Amino acid sequence: MRYIEKTLEPKELSVWKEENKEVLQEKYQNESGKDLWKFMDSKTKTQLKITLMKEQGYLCCYCGKPLTKEKIHHVTIEHLDAKGTDNNKLRVYDYFNLLASCKGGSVIELHKVEAGETLESIANKYGVDVEHLEDAYIMTDFDKQNLKSYNPEDLKVGDRIVIVPLANGNEQHCNIKRDNKPVWKHPLQEDVATYFRYNREGEIITKNTEEEFFQTVNNLGLNDNQILNQDRKRIAEQADILLRRLYELYGADKENFIEKIKTLILKYESPDDGKLRPFSFVSVTVLEQRINA
Ligand SMILES: [Zn+2]
Repeated sequence: MRYIEKTLEPKELSVWKEENKEVLQEKYQNESGKDLWKFMDSKTKTQLKITLMKEQGYLCCYCGKPLTKEKIHHVTIEHLDAKGTDNNKLRVYDYFNLLASCKGGSVIELHKVEAGETLESIANKYGVDVEHLEDAYIMTDFDKQNLKSYNPEDLKVGDRIVIVPLANGNEQHCNIKRDNKPVWKHPLQEDVATYFRYNREGEIITKNTEEEFFQTVNNLGLNDNQILNQDRKRIAEQADILLRRLYELYGADKENFIEKIKTLILKYESPDDGKLRPFSFVSVTVLEQRINA
């Protein structure tokens, strides 16, 4: 995990809140956090997703997997104070409570709408809540390449909806795994990265014994996922190879060697064309560990 520095509330959210001020006030009184969130249209949500992705260098706020505009249906808006908990209701549209998360382990499916189908029957078929379909996208024959924002209330026979069914238990991580469980160590804490260490198997380890850290890792399924572990293992190995090369070249002069590592860290911390390298914080941590060794 890495620290995410929030910028100002983006215009699309401020404008939307202003336009819907009165309705929202009433909804805050009468509706659950989850229902409140449904009120925002999918077009505004998509804009918001893109803003959050940019802010995070196009990496999932928790696991560090890359997020892309092309696969935006794999991205979901995460509420750090969970929207499903009623005392967090007032934070549902609070920008400083929102992050972009991957849909942890889910694989997309394309569903062609048949006559007589309803949102409920489709949700049932894929074993998800109707609420899950709010992120659905449509593909038409004319527009196969460009996924359009889609209002799932507006089902037509022949529409093809991109659906992201839930992954199986062990494959879940991040937003999908977490649901409403607490996240004690999170990307809006400046020191969050210092809690995370990685061994050469790609597992998250820590010398810190705080129960809150372990709970967070478990609640987000960050350590019991084979694919994530493999990804982190590969990244840690690459960092090791780079370290070995640097050592061969500059190892004789310790000060110079450390400087070269620091330059490399800076590279991993700087977005290239707005994008950080996948799992960049794993590379950074491995490199920092070498400095402190
Ligand atoms: Zn993730």
